[in-house]
Amino acid sequence: MRPSLVLVQIRREHGMHYFIKDNKLHRYPVPKRCGVQLQKEILRDTIPHNVEQCIYCMRRWPEDNNN
Ligand SMILES: [Zn+2]
Repeated sequence: MRPSLVLVQIRREHGMHYFIKDNKLHRYPVPKRCGVQLQKEILRDTIPHNVEQCIYCMRRWPEDNNN
């Protein structure tokens, strides 16, 4: 399922979005190295501090420089 409605909504805003899944904070769009899928989770544009951060999403990786 493609969340096309969500994508349209995101483009109005700048920067990255985040969502919480399985008690971890992921970013959206989700990088390939993470592989979780956004389903009914709520996108947010701020980072909550009381949740564990997914290292695949929230750390900078060398391949990030390619895009
Ligand atoms: Zn992640």
